[in-house]
This record gives sequence, C-alpha cells and structure tokens, in this order.
Amino acid sequence: MRIVALAGGIGGARFLRGLKQAAPEADITVIGNTGDDISLFGLRICPDLDTVMYTLGGGINEEQGWGRTEETFTLREELAAYDIGPGWFTLGDRDFATHIVRTQMLDAGYPLSAVTEALCDRWRPGVRLLPMSDDRVETHVVIEDAEGRRAVHFQEWWVRLHAEVPAQGIGAVGAEDAKPAPGVLEALDAADFVILPPSNPVVSVGTILSVPGIRAAVAAKTVVGVSPIIGGAPVRGMADACLTAIGVETSAGAVAAHYGPDLLDGWLVDTADAGLEDSSGGTVIRSRPLLMTDVDATADIARAAIDLAGELRP
Ligand code: GDP
Ligand code: CA
Repeated sequence: MRIVALAGGIGGARFLRGLKQAAPEADITVIGNTGDDISLFGLRICPDLDTVMYTLGGGINEEQGWGRTEETFTLREELAAYDIGPGWFTLGDRDFATHIVRTQMLDAGYPLSAVTEALCDRWRPGVRLLPMSDDRVETHVVIEDAEGRRAVHFQEWWVRLHAEVPAQGIGAVGAEDAKPAPGVLEALDAADFVILPPSNPVVSVGTILSVPGIRAAVAAKTVVGVSPIIGGAPVRGMADACLTAIGVETSAGAVAAHYGPDLLDGWLVDTADAGLEDSSGGTVIRSRPLLMTDVDATADIARAAIDLAGELRP
C-alpha cells in the first residue's frame, strides 16, 4: 500500500505516528509544509519538517509537541545576554544543532530535500519525508496595529503576536514560482490514495497545495481528510484565526467545502459534528471520535481514514 500524506507540524506529526501504527507495512511518503520556515541567527529553521522528524524519530518534547526532548537553553540565554534577538522564538541547544547542520548543507549547495534526507538518516522516521519544495516559500500575514499596516512573517504573527492581531490576508510568498521538490509528484502519481491529516487547512495543507502542480496531482487521487476542527473550534492552536483571515468559517463542514469536492473524496469529522454526515454525492462525510489522545486512539483514526479511502477508490 502506497500512501502520501500532506503534513504541517503537531497535528500532522501526531497523526502520522498513528498512521504508521495502523499500517506498518505501508510505504508512506510525507509531503511537509515549508511555508513556516524562517531564518534566525543566520540559521535556516524548518519547524514543520522538524516536528515530523522528531515526532516519528522519538526525539520530540511530548508535552509541548514541538522541540526536542531533554532540552536545555544555554545558547538562547547566552544570545540574550548579548541582546541578540528575537527572544520570542524559542530554540533549545539540541534543536540548534539540527539548524546548524541544515544551514551548513544548504550553504554548501545541497537542496532542502537532500538536507532533509540527511537529517532523517539520523532520525529514521520510518516514512519518506519530502519538503513540498526546494524553493523558498514563506507564509506572510498582513496585519494592522499601532505600527501601521504591514506584512509580517507567519512566525511573528503566530508566535510573537499569538495571532491576536486579526490577519487581513495570508499569503505564501514565493509559492507561485516554486516547483514541487524532487519526488513529490512521483510519489503522488504512485500513491494508492492521499491522506490529509488534521493539519491547519490554511497555513499547513493550504500552503502545500499552493505549490503549482501539487493540488492537481493530489486531486487526481482518492483523497481522505481528517478534520482539525471539532465542534466549531480547533483542537489546539489558532487555526480559527487563519480560517477567518481567508473568509472560511471555523467548522468541519466549511473546511471540507473549502477544500472542495474536486479535491476531497472523503472527510472524517468528530462525533460532535455527526450532523454533517453525508453520502449524497460530492465529499463523503463520516463521523467518529477524532481526538488524538494517545497513539492507539490515533491509529484507530488513521485506520478509519484508510478504510474510507479503500471504499472510495475507483
Ligand atoms: P502546526 O504546524 O504545529 O500548527 O500543526 P498542524 O498544522 O499539523 O496541525 C494543527 C492542527 O492540528 C490544529 O488546527 C488542531 O486543531 C489540530 N489538532 C491538534 N490535535 C488534534 C486532535 O487531537 N484531533 C484533531 N482532529 N485535530 C487536532
Ligand atoms: Ca506549522
């Protein structure tokens, strides 16, 4: 069984851990979001790729959902002592090593896909992890506050401002000229079906789909998604602020409609949203518990997604 999943950070990574348990024999390729990537302290940081790599490789800080386990913050404190910011983006000592290795390789001329493969040689995530593109794509958010109307990097809005300042627009800068990374279209072409984990529909899955060629290649397959929105709210994080910014209501049904029946064949919603169940044509919607409380519960969700894909495949 060949499965392709499009993943952001925490929601994507946790789901993938369940997917691996549900389908231990499957050949899984993960197309990771790189729109959250940022350069800080001269280093290239890829938060979503790292979250997937650390989570599947056993190095994640479980409570936090991002960053390394058994982390220390000496480097950060030393940088702060020099008054070198930004202080709002937390990077631990162990995590810094990953960004140093990545930046050295990028500076030596390796594309991000090759760098990611090299990092995964250590972490052995048990999936093939591909960045959506080797080209630089960065999500920016248009905001207006006391400093005026301006576009800021997604991380500044998300982490520094906690998405509390309303976004007037969200865009993936560089996406229109980006090419899918080597292997992305080939993996989609060879896939039996595609799964959309419960990742942020705007700044994770939406950004991946904005790379020219990817949306069409995904839509050509049987696609089953898992809703990140339960009972009208994100399970964790501020995805509602992203949906509002693009004019989509924060509900499991509105997210499915946003993806559209041309893309989405099946959609799993939580039992709290059972009223959305639909098999009348377009996207087939089924309900079941969708809280990823532990790996076993997550594997059950993944199995339901696989079963639905099997049912809907031509
Ligand atoms: P990020 O890049 O770290 O923000 O992570 P993702 O984009 O991959 O996933 C974020 C989404 O995961 C949020 O919109 C959450 O609602 C969703 N999420 C987190 N935990 C759960 C869960 O237990 N169940 C479901 N269905 N969604 C979840
Ligand atoms: Ca992310």
